[in-house]
Amino acid sequence: MKRTEIAVIGGGASGLAAAINAARLGRKVVILEAQNRVGRKLLATGNGRCNIANTLSDKKINECYHGKNFAPILMAAPLSEVIDFLKSVGISLRQEADGRLYPRSEQASAVLDLLRLETESLGIETICDARVNSIEPHGDHFKITYDGGVLESQKVIAAFGGAASPQLGGCEDGYTILKKLGHKASSPKPSLLPLLCSSKILRSLKGVRIHCDVSLVKSGKVLRRESGELQFTENALSGIAVFQLSSVYARIGGDYISVDVFPEYSTGSLFKLFSDMRSALKKLPAGDFLSGLVNKRVAQSLIKQVSPLELPSGKLSDIQLKKLASISKDWQFDITGPADWKQAQVTSGGVFLDQFDSRLESRLVPGLYACGELLDCDGDCGGYNLRWAWSSGIIAGRSAAEGLK
Ligand SMILES: Cc1cc2nc3c(=O)[nH]c(=O)nc-3n(C[C@H](O)[C@H](O)[C@H](O)COP(=O)(O)OP(=O)(O)OC[C@H]3O[C@@H](n4cnc5c(N)ncnc54)[C@H](O)[C@@H]3O)c2cc1C
Repeated sequence: MKRTEIAVIGGGASGLAAAINAARLGRKVVILEAQNRVGRKLLATGNGRCNIANTLSDKKINECYHGKNFAPILMAAPLSEVIDFLKSVGISLRQEADGRLYPRSEQASAVLDLLRLETESLGIETICDARVNSIEPHGDHFKITYDGGVLESQKVIAAFGGAASPQLGGCEDGYTILKKLGHKASSPKPSLLPLLCSSKILRSLKGVRIHCDVSLVKSGKVLRRESGELQFTENALSGIAVFQLSSVYARIGGDYISVDVFPEYSTGSLFKLFSDMRSALKKLPAGDFLSGLVNKRVAQSLIKQVSPLELPSGKLSDIQLKKLASISKDWQFDITGPADWKQAQVTSGGVFLDQFDSRLESRLVPGLYACGELLDCDGDCGGYNLRWAWSSGIIAGRSAAEGLK
């Protein structure tokens, strides 16, 4: 039987960070990875550019993360420590809008290469195509059964990741295996993805992108409002602003998305603008009335709700213009659910953190540690999820190594 001091299950961002930090403290580490290579999800991050962290992730912990009991972990390995860790493997960073941090190379593949090279130089053994089926505690060690063998290890770090993007290795193995060990988890939900909507209008808007505000509304209450690019698809609203709403939808639900096409105007000032335009553009068909303000297909979808497209704009009544202003400020799309797991960037929910101590060691199974998306913490779009993976991985790796002393 193969033996090691620390076994890391899962070679994603958090598992690689954990393995490197444990090995740097002089420990013998083996990574067991289900797929034929480590870091497949990491390669897909930030559209291949890897939005690696966010400068606001220390300051906006409660605003930008969802779940419970994650704050002490983020504070124990703050952004400065994450940046030092990334630098220590050779990754320099550059900052973009909204605090988004990217590798200077702008290549997720370079990030993965540098992490892999560090594991090699530290003598960490990586076994791929090694899907773990069970972890059994046996006195002072664990027996880990995987496709192709059995590994005996003194400590185990569970870095299985979550269920998002199954085409990149996302699965529910971690939840199943940790539950067998007595841990509790909330049912995982897809997050940071498009929200499906029932509106028939969507078909005619497929492919259109506009800058606007979107709000998630439940029982008449706005749960979250975001500004940014909205993308219309055949059956859903998409784009980063909607992704941010989806993280709240995953945990609390919601009835509809309200789209504010003209966030820079109040409803009253929009009516005044439309009234002035009516005087100036008398002969223009109503179908083109808004074409100078917003994408033509959006313009026509809005107008159609108050008037025939061929009516001369000068004949639009005050009532019609008031209705047009109010629809433009609160265009409602009923939500029927999230898109499928394949489109999810992250998992909402997971193994509860209150069953782990501040060093991420299980309170139920001594010697078992966990990190990453497997745990009940998910962040907004913008580098927050990788930041969680690095911070929790650093802590789990160090704690497991120190636990051996
Ligand atoms: C398309 C996409 C783009 C994204 N872009 C960003 C971004 O730009 N910025 C950001 O912050 N976040 C981004 N994310 C989210 C981020 O990638 C994840 O939150 C992060 O990778 C989670 O790291 P992890 O180590 O917990 O899990 P993962 O990276 O998923 O790693 C888990 C690993 O465990 C392995 N595994 C699973 N089960 C087993 C088993 N039974 N035995 C052995 N191994 C197993 C998996 O194969 C996988 O390699 C993106 C996600 C996606 C899908």
